[in-house]
Amino acid sequence: MTTTSPGLAERAVRAAHAHRAADPDGFRRRHDNPETWNRWARRARVVRTVATALHVPVDAVLVTDDPHRTYPTRTGDVPGDLITVTDPPTGSTWRFIPDHTTPGQSWLLLDRCPGCDAEVVVARVAALADLGDHLDPDRDTRPASWNPDPADHRPGCTATEPPPPRPPPPAATAKGRSKGRGL
Ligand SMILES: [Zn+2]
Repeated sequence: MTTTSPGLAERAVRAAHAHRAADPDGFRRRHDNPETWNRWARRARVVRTVATALHVPVDAVLVTDDPHRTYPTRTGDVPGDLITVTDPPTGSTWRFIPDHTTPGQSWLLLDRCPGCDAEVVVARVAALADLGDHLDPDRDTRPASWNPDPADHRPGCTATEPPPPRPPPPAATAKGRSKGRGL
């Protein structure tokens, strides 16, 4: 940093403004009852954990109600967590939902399916390297956590089919071999 870091008070006010802008209802109602405060406090911990795992500042992470997923509790269904990470240098955003197989330790990256454009889970992420493995242009296999459940894709999506077998090693003269599906 080349400029003087703002003091705690300034950063705190800035954080309140950011929350009020991004999630006005959730922020305003966090003191309404024990459940809303518990959710707010729990999500604050989620923010710290995700920020640490992905090596981003805590103010790059925001947890809001998931508009599409709810979870049952003793007092009824509650909205799930939708975790949005905004990369400070680029402004790119990544969206995650909790991975309930390892609560608080890994998350499921959402993205558009390349086959049908539905928003699906594309990778399981516990550490920066998992995100990197998913994004790595040199990776030649689909990640093991790819979601092939047809129920999450649009009908007829070909991306839910098993990936094609790896091509054989280059033969002596494979020139001109068509890779098209002939459609
Ligand atoms: Zn699909």
